[in-house]
Amino acid sequence: MIRVSSQFDSGNIVVLDGSNPGDIQLEISKDNKSDFYQWFYFRVTGAKGELCRFKIVNAGGAAYPSGWENYQAVCSSDGRLWKRIETKYVEGVLEFTCKPDSDAVYIAYFAPYSQERHANLISRMLQTENVRLEVLGKTIDGRDMDLLHIGEPGPSKLNIWTIARQHPGETIAQWWMEGFLTQLIDENSNAAKGLLERAVVHVMPNMNPDGSFRGHLRTNAVGSNLNREWLEPSMKRSPEVYLTREKMYSVGVDFCLNVHGDEALHYNFIAGTEGVPSWNGQRQAKLERFKQLLKIYSPDFQTDYGYPPNKAGAANMSFCSNYIAENFGCPAMTLEMPFKDSAITPEPEFGWSPGRASELGKSCVLAIADFYVEQFGTINN
Ligand code: ZN
Repeated sequence: MIRVSSQFDSGNIVVLDGSNPGDIQLEISKDNKSDFYQWFYFRVTGAKGELCRFKIVNAGGAAYPSGWENYQAVCSSDGRLWKRIETKYVEGVLEFTCKPDSDAVYIAYFAPYSQERHANLISRMLQTENVRLEVLGKTIDGRDMDLLHIGEPGPSKLNIWTIARQHPGETIAQWWMEGFLTQLIDENSNAAKGLLERAVVHVMPNMNPDGSFRGHLRTNAVGSNLNREWLEPSMKRSPEVYLTREKMYSVGVDFCLNVHGDEALHYNFIAGTEGVPSWNGQRQAKLERFKQLLKIYSPDFQTDYGYPPNKAGAANMSFCSNYIAENFGCPAMTLEMPFKDSAITPEPEFGWSPGRASELGKSCVLAIADFYVEQFGTINN
């Protein structure tokens, strides 16, 4: 007998009718106290060798319906390798078919990133001498807010921040983190070593552990969109931002990458903070230069497609990158990756994937290192 279930870490699906394998009717649940939904993740058992057709009948009302155009869901039988499966979007219904090769397979919007994997990532990082963990406090559901500090602190050191998964369904951002962190502690990387000579890197691998576990797309446990909470965060509505912002004020921010996934666009791109009041030519030049450097290091990164920049003075200051750029007077950028595939470097079997996001994370370390070498010169040990 075929069963569909989602009562596990990051699971999200409602079964409307699972009686006919050729027509399994499903719905995605909304984020708690919010109207957002798009992330789905479920397990199918008892269907080995049988052609199954799944229909998400409320796909048309999702947060980004254009995210379903030319989109393909992912499927895995071991939780490690996630392959794209045949998917189409017709008249508000997302339909995908697969013939499970195992008694239990998983189907998701994008390769999930579990709480357990997060814990393992933290443990692995802490085996390196110059990495420290600081728990900033607790989320509404009682989870730890883990912040990693990489590099020895010092009075003249730069403070570089990277934060991921304010939007929890953008698991892609935490896959990026794995590459970013791996490159940063690579003893054979002169770029990483040089960067850590002049900077401490503060890393939030997952800004929204509650939303992640609950299988949310955009919000925390009480429906707050963290990426829009930066002007007036509160311990009641958005402790994740409140605690992180406090820490930023205590150590400083000289550079920040705010890492996300974009549902609709087939590209990796960076959105700047052009609309903040203090924007000027010098800041524009730094933004352009960083994007150029990243393009040199990553074949998957491009600068032709992305969000149109905000007009002068039109920035929403509750938005994370804008808030940081303005209040810390530093480069702050939003890095977006596709849920679908990278149109300039397509890989149809996997689409944009955990491995590729991780590679982009590595490239970002190299680009940041170069960015500061260009500004301050090489450090000779
Ligand atoms: Zn996002």
